[in-house]
Amino acid sequence: MAHIVILGAGIGGMPAAYEMREILRPGDKVTVISNNPMHHFTPSNPWVAVDWRKREAIEVEIGPLLAKKGIDFIAVGAKRVHPERNQIELDDGRSVDYDFLVIATGPKLAFEEVEGLGPEGHTHSICHVDHAVEAEKAWQEFVKNPGHIVVGAVQMASCYGPAYEFAMIMDTDLRRRKLRDKVPMTFVTAEPYIGHLGLGGVGDSKGLMESVMRDRHIKWICNAKTTKVEAGKMYVTEHNDDGTPKKEHVLEFKYSMMLPAFKGIDAVFGIEGLTNPRGFILIDAFQRNPKFQNIYSVGVCVAIPPVETTPVPTGAPKTGYMIESMVSATVHNIKEVMDGKEPTHKATWNAVCLADFGDNGAAFVALPQIPPRNVSWFSQGKWVHLAKVAFEKFYMRKIRKGTSEHVFEKMVLNSLGIMKLKDK
Ligand code: FAD
Repeated sequence: MAHIVILGAGIGGMPAAYEMREILRPGDKVTVISNNPMHHFTPSNPWVAVDWRKREAIEVEIGPLLAKKGIDFIAVGAKRVHPERNQIELDDGRSVDYDFLVIATGPKLAFEEVEGLGPEGHTHSICHVDHAVEAEKAWQEFVKNPGHIVVGAVQMASCYGPAYEFAMIMDTDLRRRKLRDKVPMTFVTAEPYIGHLGLGGVGDSKGLMESVMRDRHIKWICNAKTTKVEAGKMYVTEHNDDGTPKKEHVLEFKYSMMLPAFKGIDAVFGIEGLTNPRGFILIDAFQRNPKFQNIYSVGVCVAIPPVETTPVPTGAPKTGYMIESMVSATVHNIKEVMDGKEPTHKATWNAVCLADFGDNGAAFVALPQIPPRNVSWFSQGKWVHLAKVAFEKFYMRKIRKGTSEHVFEKMVLNSLGIMKLKDK
């Protein structure tokens, strides 16, 4: 009988555990290991940061959920993965052996790559719910004494949608408070143009997003490398398209949220053959590590190349829909290997996302993720905001029920009316 360990209990890890349990033989054992006893719905963090959502609404205790499904749970972080001996060393000194390992640890948030960046420095973050809660406390102080906002994403970030979302959500919140006229807002991004999204643009995302930014009086600096942050001051070098420096900016701010670069977690960083130089897990077309073939990986922690080279480095986003397809491929491939076959399932590298702008929103579909594409579609409207609210509730209900159903696929594609586009 086999022991399958899932490392990480986020948007990739939880469905992987449920789906794995359903497909395995009764005697096989599934264990989830996470450094956090709670599961969080990360896409709602921007709402937590302006107090449109309480953290309790988007978190759920993992242990009891998994126990109901006969899945073991260890709420201790992994200190080091030892692939040569099929073992994970935990932070509390214990070790766990595995036959198959699925790494689903999300990113390490690399705030340290820019001096003064992040919650321990001078900017806020919405990447983790703990950060969003801290950002919300600062937001309440900010609205008492408003001023300039700087918001965006630094070089090597691979997740741009949430930066736009948070800019628009702050804009909406300030308008509701009748404070928007007191808040100049600058969007700073490593993307070569507004609406690039780490995807080389999707449909007319450039034109539409620029128009939204102009409508909301948000200025922007693209091709931006954030070099240093001090209290209330951000140093940014704007670059030309050929990558040479164009202009130095010193931006004063009263409130700032900047998405950091992502890296792989320390427990895997630098393991020859398992990770790339930034610590992301190397995988083949079947989500399997080429060197350690009983290790698979899903979610933000996998190594995928940037969609295109940009003057200031940007990464490609990994959204929930794509993560679900990675999970499904992984689970079926592990089952095939257990049955003595070769893996055959490949994830679809499609980017599908709903981005909330507070009172309306934008949806994009890039099939496949890397151009040229069969479908490249970007649209906006009030329906996106409503769809995202409905999606959060649907997701939380499903995760509490412990279903292995594909929630991103079902709900997001349904609300976009594009079920027929599914790759089967
Ligand atoms: P995570 O959900 O981050 O899960 C990682 C898990 O690993 C966690 O349980 C963590 O506790 C655990 N872990 C980490 N280190 C260790 C360790 N050393 N030992 C043990 N466990 C560990 N995508 C969309 O499709 N739609 C959206 O609207 C959307 N919004 C987003 C908003 C924000 C602010 C961000 C940051 C991302 C958003 N994404 C969105 C992208 C993506 O869907 C999420 O980042 C998603 O949470 C990634 O899932 P994951 O499982 O890879 O990582």
